[in-house]
Amino acid sequence: MKVGVDRDKCIGSGMCTTIAPALFDMDDDGVLVVVKETPATHEERSLLDAVACCPVNALSSSDG
Ligand code: SF4
Repeated sequence: MKVGVDRDKCIGSGMCTTIAPALFDMDDDGVLVVVKETPATHEERSLLDAVACCPVNALSSSDG
């Protein structure tokens, strides 16, 4: 599974960094940075939760 992010959509709510801190962080401008593009198997649930919780649909997950 891979992380997808549209940084132009991100409004810096920080939801994803709270839900999946191993995968996401914020840069100095308050915009999302992907820390880990390919989550470990045990981290995939948190990626899916973060995708579901992003208020502007900036996150996605894909197979492969
Ligand atoms: S949850 Fe969405 S809007 Fe909030 S920081 Fe993450 S990508 Fe950005």
